[in-house]
Amino acid sequence: MPEKKISLPIIFPEEVDYECTQCGKCCSNPWEIPLKADDIQRIRSVDWSESKPELKGQPLVVARKSSPDLMTLQRRANGKCVFLLDDNRCLVHAERGLEFKPQACQQFPYVFTDTPKGKFVGVSFATPGIASSNSEPLRRYEERLTKLAEKPYHHRSIQDKVTFNPDHEISFDEALALEAGLLDLLEPGFDLEDDLIAGGVYLEQFQHFLSETRGVTDQPAIAFSEGWRRIGYRRIRETASKYKPSPVAQRSFLTNFVMCVEAAYSGGSSLGGMSRAFMAQIGASLKIGSVQLQSLDAALPFAAHASVGFDSSNRRITDPIRLYLRHVIYRKRLIPYCGVKMGYMLLCIYFALIRWFAQATAAVRGSAEVEPQDIAESIETVEMYYVLHTRFDQVFENRLIQSLLNKAANQKLFLGMIVRSGTKDDA
Ligand code: SF4
Repeated sequence: MPEKKISLPIIFPEEVDYECTQCGKCCSNPWEIPLKADDIQRIRSVDWSESKPELKGQPLVVARKSSPDLMTLQRRANGKCVFLLDDNRCLVHAERGLEFKPQACQQFPYVFTDTPKGKFVGVSFATPGIASSNSEPLRRYEERLTKLAEKPYHHRSIQDKVTFNPDHEISFDEALALEAGLLDLLEPGFDLEDDLIAGGVYLEQFQHFLSETRGVTDQPAIAFSEGWRRIGYRRIRETASKYKPSPVAQRSFLTNFVMCVEAAYSGGSSLGGMSRAFMAQIGASLKIGSVQLQSLDAALPFAAHASVGFDSSNRRITDPIRLYLRHVIYRKRLIPYCGVKMGYMLLCIYFALIRWFAQATAAVRGSAEVEPQDIAESIETVEMYYVLHTRFDQVFENRLIQSLLNKAANQKLFLGMIVRSGTKDDA
């Protein structure tokens, strides 16, 4: 008898909701919507100029600039998709329904990760339609999301063996137990920077625990995380409070990081991009000069950027960031590339980038402090350029990058430098 295929249960996020606001931003972004052969066939099977005469004679499907052998949708001179109507609805959706759209558009903003426990449904934060909520609000779309998750345009898979660090593997259940501890630490209530460093200390402690209990304790991560849950995280937070900031190193590292990605987007030569990144790194550390940022469409003066304050104890600023970071952990996109420990380090880098962009947005506005309005935009920028929708995460498949990140993950100084803002003490 043929083996019966068991479908995995769908797991919905508990605290994240999404509803399209019809702002049109997602269809005006610089993304090159990837098209599969059947998407192209569907789009070409209709004479769209019957309902939108200006499309007459236009090539609706064109080669992607980033990979000319692949196809994407034509954009107008203002960057909007040719199918975006003046009232921000999609012509394809309006005329033929959701399932006629390219698969990538049908799936956006959902992301799927298959795991031994089920298919985790996550959401991209590169859209203004995200809201915090509770009680699995996306379950109202269960039928549609189940259908999408069965044949997604794109998904990731995690097997039962998960890398903790290059020397240790743990089961997926253990990874979930460690995540539960990190999520506890990221609950609102304390200072966000302290909480993120405490997460690093927590994983560091687990690494020691693993070495000490090797072969003695079954499922060590479960015993470890249950232990901390019972006694509380006070001691971990105390250790974390000793990690000091290094504002100059932080400015120079993050500016270099941002400039390398900007260079990749601007399509210049990698040599030109690297030398601009190097010059920007020096300018940022000395607080002189400015740099043009494509992602912000503005020039950023380094002196103004370095003086913008970020209050990591202000919940109006940090609650949206906590929601995002908790969701990145939930949707498990970090584990396949980096494993739990380096994935967490990357999460801390995402936080530092959100803060960097929020400070940049405030500096461009002429404000001395990051305001709540700077945060949503910065989360969208980081999600769009550094986390999803790019090939950025594939960089971390590279063995050399993994080894560098692993070395950094073992340096207490690095975590303090990246996470702790030093703007208030910065001379
Ligand atoms: S096809 Fe429709 S949903 Fe996809 S980018 Fe164009 S307007 Fe947006």
